[in-house]
This record gives sequence, C-alpha cells and structure tokens, in this order.
Amino acid sequence: MNTYSDIKYIKGVGPKMAENLNKCGIFNVLDLLLYFPRDYENISVHKSVLECMDGEKVIVECSVLNILRDIRLKNNKTLSTIVFCQGDNKFKGKWFNQMYAKNSFKISSKYIITGKVNIFKNEITIMNPKIVKNTSMDTNKIIAKYPIKKNVTNNFFNKIISDVLCNIEIVDNLPEWIVKKYCFCSLSDATHNIHSPKNIELLNKSKKRLKFQELFTYSLKILMLKEFMKDHNAGIQFKIAPELIVLKQQLPFELTKAQSKVVREILIDQKRDKAMNRLLQGDVGSGKTIVAIITMFNVVKNGYQAALMAPTEILAKQHYEEIQNVLKNFSLNIQILSGSTTPKNKQLIKQELKNGVIDIVVGTHALIEDNVEFNNLGMIVTDEQHRFGVSQRNRFSNKGKNIDILVMTATPIPRTLSLYLYGDLDVSIIDELPPGRQKIDTSYESMGSSSKVYEFAIKEIMKGRQVYIVCPLVVENEEMKLSSVEMLYEKLKKGQFKFIEIGMIYGKMPSKLKNEIMDKFKSGEIKALISTTVIEVGVNVPNATVMIIENSERFGLAQLHQLRGRVGRGQYKSYCILLANIKNKIVRRRLEVLIKSNDGFYIAEEDLKTRGAGELFGIKQHGESGLILADVIEDIDILKLANKEAKQLIQSDNIEDMRLKDEIIEKIEKSSSYICFN
Ligand code: ADP
Ligand code: MG
Repeated sequence: MNTYSDIKYIKGVGPKMAENLNKCGIFNVLDLLLYFPRDYENISVHKSVLECMDGEKVIVECSVLNILRDIRLKNNKTLSTIVFCQGDNKFKGKWFNQMYAKNSFKISSKYIITGKVNIFKNEITIMNPKIVKNTSMDTNKIIAKYPIKKNVTNNFFNKIISDVLCNIEIVDNLPEWIVKKYCFCSLSDATHNIHSPKNIELLNKSKKRLKFQELFTYSLKILMLKEFMKDHNAGIQFKIAPELIVLKQQLPFELTKAQSKVVREILIDQKRDKAMNRLLQGDVGSGKTIVAIITMFNVVKNGYQAALMAPTEILAKQHYEEIQNVLKNFSLNIQILSGSTTPKNKQLIKQELKNGVIDIVVGTHALIEDNVEFNNLGMIVTDEQHRFGVSQRNRFSNKGKNIDILVMTATPIPRTLSLYLYGDLDVSIIDELPPGRQKIDTSYESMGSSSKVYEFAIKEIMKGRQVYIVCPLVVENEEMKLSSVEMLYEKLKKGQFKFIEIGMIYGKMPSKLKNEIMDKFKSGEIKALISTTVIEVGVNVPNATVMIIENSERFGLAQLHQLRGRVGRGQYKSYCILLANIKNKIVRRRLEVLIKSNDGFYIAEEDLKTRGAGELFGIKQHGESGLILADVIEDIDILKLANKEAKQLIQSDNIEDMRLKDEIIEKIEKSSSYICFN
C-alpha cells in the first residue's frame, strides 16, 4: 500500500463503501489520511464509578450483578436495564429500544464498558453502555470525530484509518533544518496523533506541525509563482483606443473618482508589455461591472477578443444585458454562452469564437469547457472570484496566450492578509459608492414578528416596489427549525401574500426555470421573490427596496452585507430586515455591526473576529489551496513564520532544498503558467 493506492483496495472497504468514501472526497490513501477529524471526544477512564460526573462520557470496569426484565413504557419504548457493581457500589446500565444489547453481558462476569453518565438523585446510570475490548485503564482516551456523511460511520473511519496507519510508512517532507529549528514532531507522529491522539499535548503538537506544513507549502507556491511569472509574463501591448473617449461620453452616468482611477490603472497595465494580473476589490454596488466593460472595450478596439465569466447564470445574463446596453452604439458582436444556451446556438457561438467573429463573450463555467477555443483572446475578467476554484480559473486563462487577467470581487480582504494570500497580484480598490445612494435602513426583529415584517413588505409592494425574502434552506428539515424556501412560499401564497404575485428560486432549480423567474422579477411581474442565497452576488433589480432575511443568525456578516446590497440600488428608500433569534445576546451583537455600518471592509474585519478567514473567503472550500487545518487569520503567526522559512528555502543552495524547490516548480509548470491564486 502506498499513499496513492485506490481506496477500494484497502482491506475492509468493498466497492460499495468505496463509493461512499468517494462521496466524501476520498479516493486514495492520502485523501483518507488527510480526512482530519472535525473534533475529538474526551472519554474519562475512572477507577471508581463514584468519580463519574453527570453528562460525562466514561470508561469503567465493573461486573454484572443482575439483568432485569425489559419494561414496556407508556411511549411504546422498551427499556432494558442491567445492574452493575464495582465492589459495594452499584449503578445501572440502560438502553431504550435495544432489546438485544444486554445479551452481550453475563451475570457475575467482569467487563470494561463505555457510555454517557446520567446522575439523578445520587443514582448513577450509564446510558447505552458498550463493551470495550483491548483497552488499558491507565489514561483517558481521546476519540476522533470525523465529519461523517451518509452511510459512513465514525467508528468506520476510526477503524479504517487506524488500520491504514499501521500499514503505511510516512516519510517526512519538511527540510530537516526546519524540523529541528522549531522542534516539530515527525510527519508520521503528527499524522498518527491527529487521528488517534495519545494525549492532548501530542495532539496540539501535531496540529502545529501540520498547520505549519500547510502554510509553508502555500507560501512556497505563491513565492515560486512570483519568480516564475517574472520570466513568463510577456504580455500584449494594447494601445489606448481613441473610441474610449466616445464611449466615455455615452456612458449612462459619470464614473466616480474611484472608478476612473481603477480604469486608469488597468489601462496602464494594458499598455505595458507585461501581462496584467490584477485583483479588483470593491464593495457591493460600487460599480465594478462598468470598469470591466470599459477595459474590455479597449481590448476589443485593439483587435482582440475579451471574455467575462460569472459564477451564476443569472449574473452572466445580467452582465450580458448591461454590456449590450452600454456598448449598443459600437456595433460589436457580443454573445452569451451558458448552460441554457441551446446546443445549436452553442455550436454556432463556439464556431464564431474560434474564427474571431465574436468580440465579447459572457458566460458561466460553460466558457472553460475544453472545446471552447478563441481566435485571439486578449483579456479575461472573472467576476466574484471567490466563487470559482483555482483550477477553473486556470483552465480559463489557458485559453489564450499572454492574456490580461482581471479578477473582480466584492469580498474585501484586509491588506495584511492579501499580501500573503495574493502575493503575486496587483490590487485595485474602488472605495466609494456612486453618488445619490441612500443608506439602507437596517434593523432586526425576532422570528416571531415575521408577519408584522411581511405586512411592511406588502405596503412597499403597494407603492410599486419589490421585495426579496431569503431563507437558509431550500426544503424543510425536521431537525433544524429553520425557514425553508418551499415552506415559506407555500405559507405566504396561501396567507398574507394571497393576492400578490410571488415566486421562488434556488440554486438546484433547472436553469430555464430560474431564468424565467428572474426575468419575471426583473420586469416587475413577480413582486416578492423567496430565495436562497443564489441571489447573493451581483443581482441588480433597482426597483427592489426590501430585503428580508430569515434566520439571519445562520449567515456570516459579510454574506448578510452582500445580501443587503441587493436593495438600495435605485432612487427609492430601501430596507433590510434581519429576522433572527434576537433573545440571544451574541446574535444581537453581531447583527448590530450591520446596523451600525455599511462599510464592507469594516464588516469583514468584524466577521473575521468570529469566523475563520478560510470560511469567509471560501479558501477552504477549494481543496486546491491545500489548507485543511490551518486558517490564515487564526494562524497568522504560523503563516508569518512559514512565509519567512519559505523565502529562506528559495534562496538556499543546499542540494536537498534545491531538489524540493524543483519539485514545486515542476508542479507549477504542469498545472498552469497562470495560477494566480492560493
Ligand atoms: P458591483 O460592484 O456590486 O458589481 P455593479 O457594477 O453591479 O456593482 O453596479 C451597481 C449599480 O450601480 C448598477 O446599476 C450600475 O449601473 C450603477 N452604477 C455603477 N457606476 C455608477 C456611477 N458612477 N454612477 C451611477 N450609477 C452607477
Ligand atoms: Mg458585480
């Protein structure tokens, strides 16, 4: 067995289980070893049952004194009971609806058992006791808890991972001088202890080593990339097209100072003989799209093609319409390519992209399919970058030679962090909103007051405005008492919104239906739109003035800010009402950040205090970053060290270090010449 052995050949994993594991993203032994526990359970080993505390999970030694007869309870459950003893101390073991559990025990025999303690009126009970074999009674146990998915239990993970660990040799991969300098444990020890920790101290030591390792590799990648780009970033020298002046006069509005500044920065990049790699940050509604349009226009007027990729179909369509509108007097060929483009049209568009008839193409990830080829692509723009994985972007940038890349995002990233995260990128920031925007009136209400809130929404609708209602779930979930799109839609349709046209929309809906509903909302036919966060990014319906968010406590602040940004886009006074469990002080305090501030940067920083950066910027979801345990904010101190040592390694002329460096370069060259992220 080696780290790349397919999971299905491991003992104890049949084809069926292999499929289940695949669903957890586990395909080979390495994936399995990198499937880290999400938490740990501490099991106390007690010599005497009297040491047990209520609610604690314990391991105790005992003998069976008596096995009682099962009792049928009023609620139709069956209660089985065994009386255990430890010297003179008696306690009970109980099971509900598990009539066979007690059969593993014999009167007068000795066992080591484990279970959760319940103490009531000085009487000790262990619930659902299980026999543990092959265990010593000398130290407390720490049991890994894995993020489990359907059909794969925690026990299974624990068993299979410990089997694998017994049969595999793990070779260290950090330079020896680093391991020595920081007194890190070996990679092998770290891997063993992250999965089945001998004690808390070793667990913490392992975590530290693994986090360092992740951040070190991450830093190396970024630094190497920077070096690599120095030699490989020849670019197209675009001219400043005279038509830009005409376009500027025809814009539907005057650019803000910040927009003009950013347009200038991009045009300067375009003029240089180096390829542009720029990140454009700007709060929701700051007007990033027009910047993309103007600069794409310049590329087109230089005789090249430009492409814009959006994360959702709704957004792609919206951009397409805006581009067509802004550039309507220039007789350009502008097309949209997305999931719902008919096969016939798709074929035609692909043909025209290839022979250069199309000037600008807008699309979703359909744009990066292998058979989409360009005649002479000069610039690509990806909107809302945090929604795309790195590999997707890479595939896109490989569609042309030396193309300029602009990545736009509304998620503000604090400067200190962007230096480490996007070390090789230039950053432009739009730090002002277009004039005349009114502050969105933001407030919170308890979930119980929702009908009052809907009443308010109806009043706005009567004035001719429109409303969004966002829920955390699509369908109802019995365990979590949260609003779901379907349930709320049914409820409102029959109830308060009986005489009002409403619609619902969520990510998994067929695209055709999604487009239809979105069109109806845009045209004003649908007055209230009940949705999930699919509408979070970029959607622009200026007539919508009320944003109601159900169970707001379920969302991050930055996300709530994005959602709020869907209203207040026109001339009308707008409102954002956060329904939440406001009895909870922490919830109230978080929501107050939004009520107080409209500044995306400030809100993101506050959000960082309560949530990890990985979660906030979607870094972790992208497996490509290699960050599993480490969080760039929480572990910023480790990140700084890792960065320092990575620089050291790059400069080192030690043979072993040089070999390691070459390995990384090779990986970079293989994947793409344009990995700008992670
Ligand atoms: P975002 O940065 O969130 O992507 P958009 O590009 O969608 O923002 O712009 C938001 C809205 O503001 C759009 O309706 C756009 O037409 C409008 N807008 C952009 N720039 C200006 C401006 N300088 N003056 C007035 N309105 C503008
Ligand atoms: Mg946008």
